[in-house]
Amino acid sequence: MVSKSFSVTGLGACGEVGRSAFILDFGEKFLLDYGVKLNIEEVEYPLEVNEHVKAAVISHAHLDHSGLLPYFYKDSNCLSFMTQATLDLADILWKDSIKIAEFEGVAPKYTRAEIERTRKHNFIVPYNKKFSLGNDSSLEFFDAGHILGSALCKFTHKDKTFLYTGDYKVDETQLHAGCDLNVGKVDYLMVESTYGDREQANRKLEEKAFCESVQSTVERGGWAIVPVLAIGRSQEVIDILSKYNIDAPIYFDGMAKQVSEIYFRYPELLKDSKGLKKALNSVEWIMGKQGRNRALKNPGVVVSTSGMMHGGPVMHYVRKIINDPRSKIHLTSYQAEGTPGRELLEKGLLLDENAGTVVKAGCRYEKFDFSAHPSQSELIKSIKKWNPKEIFMVHGDKKVMDVFSKSIYSATGVKATRLETGKRTYFG
Ligand SMILES: [Zn+2]
Ligand SMILES: [Zn+2]
Repeated sequence: MVSKSFSVTGLGACGEVGRSAFILDFGEKFLLDYGVKLNIEEVEYPLEVNEHVKAAVISHAHLDHSGLLPYFYKDSNCLSFMTQATLDLADILWKDSIKIAEFEGVAPKYTRAEIERTRKHNFIVPYNKKFSLGNDSSLEFFDAGHILGSALCKFTHKDKTFLYTGDYKVDETQLHAGCDLNVGKVDYLMVESTYGDREQANRKLEEKAFCESVQSTVERGGWAIVPVLAIGRSQEVIDILSKYNIDAPIYFDGMAKQVSEIYFRYPELLKDSKGLKKALNSVEWIMGKQGRNRALKNPGVVVSTSGMMHGGPVMHYVRKIINDPRSKIHLTSYQAEGTPGRELLEKGLLLDENAGTVVKAGCRYEKFDFSAHPSQSELIKSIKKWNPKEIFMVHGDKKVMDVFSKSIYSATGVKATRLETGKRTYFG
């Protein structure tokens, strides 16, 4: 038997969505992403990095991919690679994580000084520029179309190539044109699987249904509350509401505001930066308590973090309308298992983590499907284009991967492998 020269070890995000972290041994050893998983009760971490790595490579800023990097830099001196937009966005999220931990009275996993240390070890990698890593190895990023700065990460060692998708989106969204599928030859692929078992609602129809629901909520005298992820979804939702000319006051609250400032810095990474800027400038940015009280005086639309209702200013508004049958909570993103958003959708219960209460929701609620992840057909389209000889599935529930692997096999004849946490999988 020929011995296999490469390996990948899952430290998290194996059969689950959250805490993405992998060690890739591909000529050199690399840490791919180092994220956290936010559950109802606690934050879950990936396994520790117990081997020496040449570099850390971060696919994008979402906390489930970048959230623990400053902890890694407590005692690591290697370089990290990410896009400038990823670094700018992650920096906001890291600092916010410390604030949240302090607010909750728990010890933060890292300090502000360690965030600075992380920044100092960073090397910015733009899209479409091959960067040599020594030892016949190189790294190249391609636009992943998922959020601002998100990258498909391609490693080359001698004549072999390995592509890690991070999170990506093939089709265009309101903000992004879809990922860059032209990444050249791919021998080995590690692919996210979030929606590997299903198709998504038609985006245009979903946008229309969402805006009609928002408008009718305000017309019947209620508040349309829209919990959003700070990065990407919040900007996208404002852009969609503006496109449909919603006739109601729109309030924008939470960390999403700070993130939007960063979106303004990278117009070249957006489909229509002028349109987005106009939309964001046409809504009222809430500053402080007075603004929040004003937003709750007359029916209107509130777009605020956090997207899965893990605290954040959105909960201030949710508490006020939870028993109002005219009002409606419009969830707009994937709701991970164990999050308050998922509990609301599945059981009609509002878990208020800060107040420590659980109440039956008297308001309306519905989830709208604005995914920034590929549907099954988008996944298969990209896999067929890349045509790898080995495939590793990560970042998805186990049941989803069972369905996804079957569809990969029938489309390509390749038997995809589900990585397991703590286990080294050899290939090559
Ligand atoms: Zn993501
Ligand atoms: Zn993710």
